[in-house]
Amino acid sequence: MSNKSIILLSGGLDSLVCLGLCKDEYNVSLALTFDYGQKSAKKEIEASAKISEYYNISHKVIKLNWLEEITNTALVSDKELPQGIDKPEESAKAVWVPNRNGLFLNIAGSFADSGNYSHIIIGANKEEGETFPDNTEEFAKRAEALFEYSTLNKPKVLVPLINYDKNAIVNIALKKLMPLELVQSCYGEESKHCGRCESCTRLKNALKHNGDTHYIKLLFEN
Ligand SMILES: [Zn+2]
Repeated sequence: MSNKSIILLSGGLDSLVCLGLCKDEYNVSLALTFDYGQKSAKKEIEASAKISEYYNISHKVIKLNWLEEITNTALVSDKELPQGIDKPEESAKAVWVPNRNGLFLNIAGSFADSGNYSHIIIGANKEEGETFPDNTEEFAKRAEALFEYSTLNKPKVLVPLINYDKNAIVNIALKKLMPLELVQSCYGEESKHCGRCESCTRLKNALKHNGDTHYIKLLFEN
């Protein structure tokens, strides 16, 4: 089977860098973005559309209305989003969506099976893997093993960022001149990055760590 890949694209830092890294080598031609009623859905869809256009790949938005109905995570409800990064476990619980990455991967598995895609790429990384079990290499391996039974073409699951933390991921993006201006990493619903939620804090800290001022100004300062 020749290389042809699907990427799970949220429009955030991790999925952008995954796409930039794998686009040519794995012939990424389809991006899937999921709308489960998260506060940032509209922004994520817009950012993913722009990123897909930039890399010249197809983009599909998949709506999961029922997921919004059965979750009470702060990502979709009126509950306050966790701020900062001091209490990762508490934050992880507050933004947990039941079986989210499992669902996303399995849906991608259906697309891979019907469209004959060889790989599915997700932005799981070391930093989030510490608090989210579905952001680990073990999770990716097991999902891949499941595809051996649940699909005919048995797509592989790639996690190119699994050994990198946010500092390293931002470093790759800056070095390879990826379009960070298109990124949408904020959990909130305002059009700009709030600069305070856990996700914003991680991105901002990583940009600072890499000595960047350009993108901090562009993304976080009005
Ligand atoms: Zn934010």
